[in-house]
Amino acid sequence: MDIFEELGVKKYINAHDTYTIYGGSRMSARTLKTMEEMAGAFVDMEELQRVLGDRTAGLTHNEGAYFTNGASGGLLLAACVCMTRGDLYHYRKLPDTEDIPSEILVMRAQRNAYDKAIEASGAQVAEIGDADETLEFELEGRITSRTAGVFYFASALYQRGSLSLEKTIAAAHGKGVPVVVDAAAQLPPVENLWKFTEMGADMVIFSGGKTLCGPQDSGLILGKREYIEICRNIGSPRHGICRSSKTSREAMAGLYKAVEQYCSLNHREQKEKMYQRNVSIQKKIEGRDSVLGTKIIAKGPVGQEYPRLFCELKQIGKAEETADKMREAGIYIGAVPEENMIYISPLNLTDKEAEIVGDRLAEIL
Ligand SMILES: *Cc1c(COP(=O)(O)O)cnc(C)c1O
Repeated sequence: MDIFEELGVKKYINAHDTYTIYGGSRMSARTLKTMEEMAGAFVDMEELQRVLGDRTAGLTHNEGAYFTNGASGGLLLAACVCMTRGDLYHYRKLPDTEDIPSEILVMRAQRNAYDKAIEASGAQVAEIGDADETLEFELEGRITSRTAGVFYFASALYQRGSLSLEKTIAAAHGKGVPVVVDAAAQLPPVENLWKFTEMGADMVIFSGGKTLCGPQDSGLILGKREYIEICRNIGSPRHGICRSSKTSREAMAGLYKAVEQYCSLNHREQKEKMYQRNVSIQKKIEGRDSVLGTKIIAKGPVGQEYPRLFCELKQIGKAEETADKMREAGIYIGAVPEENMIYISPLNLTDKEAEIVGDRLAEIL
């Protein structure tokens, strides 16, 4: 009897995406083994954070790296770093932000469900621009002595109304203010692990539990040495507001192994494999009674570079119903009701699972 049977908890195949509500992504056997090894003895957590950080910085071509508990914990810590610049007296007082610059600027077009983590630090989020457009003078003019930093969300969903990252960095740095990029789900391409920092961003945040396939409750802050040093000085296990988002030694070691594996993948081959999984499902569903047409689209939901399979249905209003039926059959897929489409992301699928997804979907369609 496995743990699912013991608990009576249903198992799913994830053909939707790296969504936290399903558990995100899957760790490799090597990552799990590393976590088990790390669980076998005690360590000096500050030493471990430093050693893993230096190695991860090397792997990702950054000056420094710090392990957090998820990208969300990274947003919280990065906000604390911007506000306190490492001053322990002011850090310990958070979320009381009296006496320190505590405004974090965010473009109105980029407001999202994750930015609460910024406010959890005690910072006040101040919006600039509007839903359609943000101009340089709006950012420059809004930066005052109260401004602690500018947070930029790199998702393709928000780019329409945003100032480009280049212009954001130029404007913020021109006024001496750091820029933090939330790139939680911006993989692949692997180059994004260093692209934003090379552009000049001071800290760049990635989720460990999405495409990197690390522990679900792990994340990374990559960036400039001086800022990573501050993360090390104020972040958990030190006491203060980030203590409630601590990271375990197992999660840190697991994410390090996962990053190492991700960086050594043949990414072209990975993309080709994902494409083939899409094609295998496409072949099974093309021509079914309910199917109007299928197409493979080169982008992930927030602009990542991996192919997804979309299927337009003949009968209007059937997309959600189809996704519901698939879920009942133990498979999560995506639905775009307004376009009457369902979609499959191959990111979390094994070849065998792709077969199962194709067979079930063909039956239901
Ligand atoms: C997923 C996501 C997060 C949160 O990441 P966790 O690792 O689950 O904490 C933050 N920001 C964005 C833009 C995300 O997509």
